[in-house]
Amino acid sequence: MNQRVRSAQLYEEAQRHIVGGVNSPSRSFKAVGGGAPVFMERAEGAYFWDVDGNRYIDYLAAFGPIITGHAHPKVTEAIVRAAHNGTLYGTATEHEIRLAEVLKAAIPSMDKVRFVNSGTEAVMTTIRVARAFTGRNKIIKFAGCYHGHADLVLVAAGSGPSTLGIPDSAGIPPSIASEVITVPFNELDGLRAALEHWGDQVAAVMVEPIVGNFGMVMPKPGFLEGLCKLARDAGALVIYDEVISAFRFHYGSAQTFPAFADQEAIRPDLTALGKIIGGGLPIGAYGGRADLMEMIAPLGPAYQAGTMAGNPASVLAGLACLEALREPGVYARMEAQAARLCDGLQASADRHGVPLTINRIVGAFSTHFCSGPVTNYEEAQRSDGEQFGRFFRLMLERGVYLAPSKYEAWFLTTAHTDADIDATLTAAEEAFSEMGREG
Ligand code: PMP
Repeated sequence: MNQRVRSAQLYEEAQRHIVGGVNSPSRSFKAVGGGAPVFMERAEGAYFWDVDGNRYIDYLAAFGPIITGHAHPKVTEAIVRAAHNGTLYGTATEHEIRLAEVLKAAIPSMDKVRFVNSGTEAVMTTIRVARAFTGRNKIIKFAGCYHGHADLVLVAAGSGPSTLGIPDSAGIPPSIASEVITVPFNELDGLRAALEHWGDQVAAVMVEPIVGNFGMVMPKPGFLEGLCKLARDAGALVIYDEVISAFRFHYGSAQTFPAFADQEAIRPDLTALGKIIGGGLPIGAYGGRADLMEMIAPLGPAYQAGTMAGNPASVLAGLACLEALREPGVYARMEAQAARLCDGLQASADRHGVPLTINRIVGAFSTHFCSGPVTNYEEAQRSDGEQFGRFFRLMLERGVYLAPSKYEAWFLTTAHTDADIDATLTAAEEAFSEMGREG
């Protein structure tokens, strides 16, 4: 059992200067019973070390980006190189072309790309492009999907806000909220009805094509095809938010996931990216059909800019990370480890009578503390937050770091070893055993 005295001290101090002591609410421990979050000092490979010297196996992966593990040598080398050459120019560089080429090669629906600094910015701008192009204002989104913290998409947003009990953020004018229509994921009836009612006002249907924000949830067969068809028939664009899903499950995006047979039928008009494509440095990107992307300044009338956008450090780190992901077998290895981990977790939970549903997609999975399938946000909400909180803390005590939210995924990285999986399973067996005893 680890001691976290220094973390507790730093939390006291942090709260005096930083709102809530954290610079993103999803880092707080509010959703897992409160108290001091762990202050980390250093990370390497699959591990974190906190300020008290405790080591943790990391399944947070910084909420997704760290797919090659912390301080991957090639990524580190790229960042050092970038630092030596000056971190920010405010001019064009060749590196940006190279990253754009790499992204376009992996995601063929993107004729043109623009780099920004975060997933939020990427999503926000796809909406602007869609509105500028269609001359329409409304957006349809799916309940529980999180698309960053821009006004429009915070309505009925999943993971972060829902975890903290604020699915609809304060500070968003009703006039903006009224431009968003929210329908259930994984069924077409809600979408169909919304489009029948508002179809000629809808600029775009926005979706996480593989959901990462109310657990990991696959679209049911035919869902994305139906979504695209309904949107097109209504003259609305399709925007895929692939901030989590791109390069997470294979070298490509959800729209090119091998399990989806008819990729033409699920091709979006615009795509938002972030996380992995920056190799752990801040980045976002959006791209799509050339005629849509040319709506953006300096070519078109829709404005979007960024002082830090396409900075050499983020771009070079992203290129290095994606290069590491092109090595043969990396996804298969993460998948095999995740599968073994999930089998063991399920067996432990079953043995000790703790209801658990695991949704796994390749090397990422979510643990829902409830029985039955989790295919949409309503089902995901049944997961017992208190049980998750207990499990989270029992694992933390045993040196396993999970995202402090019942909705977030566990992410394998290329750095996790078989011994890490064994150690995690031993910790989980103890945790479930304790939970089973307490009832
Ligand atoms: N879209 C999705 C699907 C996300 O998961 C996130 C972040 N978790 C975002 C957008 C926002 O990205 P960022 O935090 O980089 O602004």
